[in-house]
Amino acid sequence: MTIKSHIRTVPHYPHHGIMFRDITTLLKDPIGLRTTIQEIAKRYSNVEIDKVIGIESRGFIIGAPVAYQLGKGFVPIRKRNKLPAETIGRDYQLEYGSDRIEIHVDAIQPGERVLLVDDLIATGGTAEAAVGLIRDMGGEVVECCFVIDLPDVGGKARLENLGCPVFALCEFE
Ligand code: IMP
Repeated sequence: MTIKSHIRTVPHYPHHGIMFRDITTLLKDPIGLRTTIQEIAKRYSNVEIDKVIGIESRGFIIGAPVAYQLGKGFVPIRKRNKLPAETIGRDYQLEYGSDRIEIHVDAIQPGERVLLVDDLIATGGTAEAAVGLIRDMGGEVVECCFVIDLPDVGGKARLENLGCPVFALCEFE
């Protein structure tokens, strides 16, 4: 089975002209879900990692089972005002306007090695803000891992310019 063949493309969602890559069709397939988690976990099974961090919300669906499989803890990065205890946050630009992501201040200890996970990288703005948060706390991002990369949009290159390696299971043009 190929992971890419199980991802559905929804034209004109959420806006006209956007080709939305929808992983729900991959997740609902038992072999698709298992293969996705196992492929990612296999890549990091011999890599020194302290924690897996997932970006809300599809990064939780992928990141938590990867953490479980690796025998590590999972930390959520959430949109503004969702986390209950003390947080630090970063604002980042969207196509229209801006957004903010936050993490609990006690989620990472200085020097910890982190695997960052999300479903998809497009411009890299969300992941760049997440990398910034992790580094603000003294964490080291070992790699940023995605199910889907859109290489034409340039996010991977943007993260690599920050010194952050990027891996994705598949690419869409
Ligand atoms: P970026 O910040 O431009 O890299 O956008 C990535 C963020 O937007 C991730 O959190 C994705 O979940 C979400 N995203 C953008 N485009 C898509 C898509 O086509 N499918 C699923 N998620 C998307």
